[in-house]
Amino acid sequence: MNATVAGYASRGAQPALEGEHRPVVVIGGGQAGLSMSYCLRQRGIDHLVLERDRVGYEWRERRWDSFCLVTPNWQCRLPGFPYQGDDPDGFMGRDEVVRYIEDYAASFNPPLVEHVTVTRLRRGRVFEISTTRGELTADQVVVATGPYHGPAIPRMAERLPEDVVQIHSSEYRNPDQLPPGEVLVVGSGQSGCQIAEDLHLAGRRVHLAVGDAPRVARFYRGRDVVAWLDAMGYYDKSIDEFDDQDSVRFRANHYVTGRDGGRDIDLRALAREGMRLYGRLIGISDATAHFAADLRRNLDNADAVSESIKDSIDEFIEAQGIDAPVEPRYTPVWEPADEPGELDLRRSRISAVVWCTGFRREYRWIEVPVFDGRGYPTHKRGVTSCPGLYFLGLPWQHTWGSGRFSGVARDAEYLAERIACGAAPAEETIRAVAS
Ligand SMILES: Cc1cc2nc3c(=O)[nH]c(=O)nc-3n(C[C@H](O)[C@H](O)[C@H](O)COP(=O)(O)OP(=O)(O)OC[C@H]3O[C@@H](n4cnc5c(N)ncnc54)[C@H](O)[C@@H]3O)c2cc1C
Repeated sequence: MNATVAGYASRGAQPALEGEHRPVVVIGGGQAGLSMSYCLRQRGIDHLVLERDRVGYEWRERRWDSFCLVTPNWQCRLPGFPYQGDDPDGFMGRDEVVRYIEDYAASFNPPLVEHVTVTRLRRGRVFEISTTRGELTADQVVVATGPYHGPAIPRMAERLPEDVVQIHSSEYRNPDQLPPGEVLVVGSGQSGCQIAEDLHLAGRRVHLAVGDAPRVARFYRGRDVVAWLDAMGYYDKSIDEFDDQDSVRFRANHYVTGRDGGRDIDLRALAREGMRLYGRLIGISDATAHFAADLRRNLDNADAVSESIKDSIDEFIEAQGIDAPVEPRYTPVWEPADEPGELDLRRSRISAVVWCTGFRREYRWIEVPVFDGRGYPTHKRGVTSCPGLYFLGLPWQHTWGSGRFSGVARDAEYLAERIACGAAPAEETIRAVAS
């Protein structure tokens, strides 16, 4: 019954899976799935990793050409494979990230099957896993299919004129991909701001619909803000320490960039250079985009969050008696003259819209009742109420770094321990599901 599974380093003919049984199956071969595999291997637990595409797919296929990590390289600390390069304070570009993940896989040769999609997961006596290459079973399953699935594009997109090209941020590669003309970027989270800046730097006239994403400074008082927050223990803070866990888990990321060695993204400065800013996009009709009158408030709030992070860094520096250079605070370099409510797409020669409106979750293939009614898995540190079913790599699964390079190792270690003892679901999870 046991087909030989090619390890990563010896990728060859990929085996049929029909009739296979494994103690553990990991679904998804991104950084989370590979981290899980590494931790299981260390404990001698037999398992398989099933990957729909190829290792590194997410970074290779769904990031733009000028993409750089926002988190410094030293935070890339996959289990057994911390960043070893010569630029720990730098920010890897897209291709370097792909290579980092490929090298990680090559470093321990996980039992990985690529180009196989899991189409259904059910719980019978054991887990029944349907794939594009046959049915297999497992005693325990880790879902590591990533934090971001399909594009979340609002229905109003249907109302755009047909000759306006529209793409999602995950499809954006570079300015030349878009037809000549001006571009409307919708959304000012990390992707929206970085893509708007990419287009702006290439000389395109950009119109940006600004939402309520917060921002953070890149550097403050002599260090990267991430380094300060690390020293302050922020990245060890568990989701349980927050009162409103949902708002922490689902809020937009702070915008900043790792481009050119790392710097702020200051939308006010971009506006001064010619980028057109608007409030949140609320509708499209007759080739006209309509915006909420919240641009001023959104810019102010983003700055206020950034300044409040600096406040806490100041407090930390003072409390610890650290000798750090003093730095003047941010003063707004531009203010909106008014709240532009409309943009006539034709008159402005808008040829393309880039939807930087985030992603939706896609777990319909999991036919196990562990979801909260909004499609989010109910779990405690990735352990669900269904014995043997785990999630890994969710944003704020346990800490800030859970859905990122920095914290997935800790979560994978935790789950590997649970899996090793065939763990029962966490008490808190059972209570949460029952209530
Ligand atoms: C634009 C952007 C920028 C980011 N920047 C940073 C950053 O600077 N620093 C940082 O630490 N993090 C960053 N992240 C967050 C995070 O590191 C990435 O989202 C990362 O890809 C998550 O890794 P993962 O393994 O959890 O999921 P993924 O990389 O999404 O991997 C999941 C894998 O599962 C596979 N899969 C999915 N469904 C199935 C199925 N049914 N069957 C089989 N296989 C399946 C997919 O093909 C994929 O390869 C960023 C995310 C985005 C979107």
